[in-house]
Amino acid sequence: MVLPYKHEPFTDFNDDQNRADYQDALKYVTSELGKDYPLVIGGKKIYTDDKLVSVNPAKKEQVIGNASMASTSYVEKAMDTAENAFGEWKTWTAEERAEVLFKAAAIARRRKHEISAWMSVEANKPWGQADADTAEGIDFMEYYARQMLRLGEGREINDRPGENNTFFYQPLGPGVVIPPWNFAFAIVCGTTVGPIVAGNPVLMKPSENTPVIAYKLVEILEEAGLPQGVLNFLPGHPEDIGDYLVDHKDTHFINFTGSRGTGTRIYERASVVQEGQTHLKRVVAEMGGKDTIIVDNDADLDLAAKSIVDSAFGFQGQKCSACSRAIIHEDVYDNVLDKAVEKAKFITVGNPGEENIYMGAVVNQKQFDKIKHYIDIGKREGDLIFGGETDDSQGYFIYPTIIKDLDPESRVMQEEIFGPVVGFAKAKDFDELLDTANNTEYALTGAVISNNRAHLNRARHEFEVGNLYFNRGCTGSIVGYQPFGGFKMSGTDAKAGGPDYLLNFLAPKTISESW
Ligand code: GLU
Repeated sequence: MVLPYKHEPFTDFNDDQNRADYQDALKYVTSELGKDYPLVIGGKKIYTDDKLVSVNPAKKEQVIGNASMASTSYVEKAMDTAENAFGEWKTWTAEERAEVLFKAAAIARRRKHEISAWMSVEANKPWGQADADTAEGIDFMEYYARQMLRLGEGREINDRPGENNTFFYQPLGPGVVIPPWNFAFAIVCGTTVGPIVAGNPVLMKPSENTPVIAYKLVEILEEAGLPQGVLNFLPGHPEDIGDYLVDHKDTHFINFTGSRGTGTRIYERASVVQEGQTHLKRVVAEMGGKDTIIVDNDADLDLAAKSIVDSAFGFQGQKCSACSRAIIHEDVYDNVLDKAVEKAKFITVGNPGEENIYMGAVVNQKQFDKIKHYIDIGKREGDLIFGGETDDSQGYFIYPTIIKDLDPESRVMQEEIFGPVVGFAKAKDFDELLDTANNTEYALTGAVISNNRAHLNRARHEFEVGNLYFNRGCTGSIVGYQPFGGFKMSGTDAKAGGPDYLLNFLAPKTISESW
């Protein structure tokens, strides 16, 4: 019997034993560093000469692994293999496909600290954040398996005398998964196993920043009994194989999470019907955010400061859900700002590959340069009140940064920075708080800190975001509890970890028989 879904609990790192276990996992992972990783096509491991070198962002000289890179001819081979695998995979029942995910979840649970430790070195995820990431990956497997069991039965529709009608779902065909590096296990896992459990083979191109962790997922699914060819692993330069994967005539869907620029490019390219293509491609594009926490004048101000600081600086602010704008009622503005600065002073920065600190380094040189540039812009547009230091001598360190007195139209308040930088602005009343929160092209997450029920009720309808939180921070959605995704330029709002997610990868079919 399948037990009801419950999310995976988080590890308490105040516990000595848990900390010791995590250190052991880090030791093990460190002993495994620097290996070569293959492409996987139809279950075959292929090592290519062209290697992508993945490094620890906090310690640039530490090589995490060398991932083989795929060229377009390997993509072609993988697509052929996926087409072949589809023939059989689509005939597996929902129960049989779900079984593979249940087993994979059990394996991932057993290897939990090891997976998290890989993230602590390759993505520089602090321990608690890495643990939550692994837990979310496990949740995606447990949850989507159950969703498939539900959808596998089809849906009830009506019969009439002399007419029998049925309605069920069938898979689309091979598709492409292009996940991000920031949820290096969770989102890689969710965006891959969702389409797979629905019956579709996948060609997965992991991010150049985190190919080793992505490979761990491939290993786990293989061990769980996923048939060869259902998941093909193709690290590669986006400029070499990105468009090729998207444009391919046999690609049925593209499941993308990443930047607005890449997402809109994929959306556009996928709309072109290629020669020999006999279907329309589906695109799921989960893109950026410019997420806002608004603070009302009657709010719990400690809670407000804590929510802002945690949401702005958790995992170095590298979440699409991260709080990058705090809009505060003028009556409490100075107070919340002071409290936020006081809290930020306690943030520890270091290498989570070695110690249990609050923040690690940002992912790479390009992001480091970009965030630094925005801090400079922020100094001109507003008043840098905390942080602003950067250091890329050993790793890509950006210290928590707070900029105050910004114009809501300023660049720092409008453009996605994807780093530990939060801007503060003032508003005179609740109308202005909401207006300012809505004045971006994104609509991903947001939070309202208020004890005024009428204001909370208004925000429910007027705060334009896909995930709205009351009296808490704006990050940390949990599969099956807070289905995640945004609208406007944040994307197609597919709601990862929600009850409708798998419908993105299924074609409903109606059969009507007269008798
Ligand atoms: N689901 C994550 C959260 O709620 C964010 C995912 C992302 O950054 O893409 O924090």
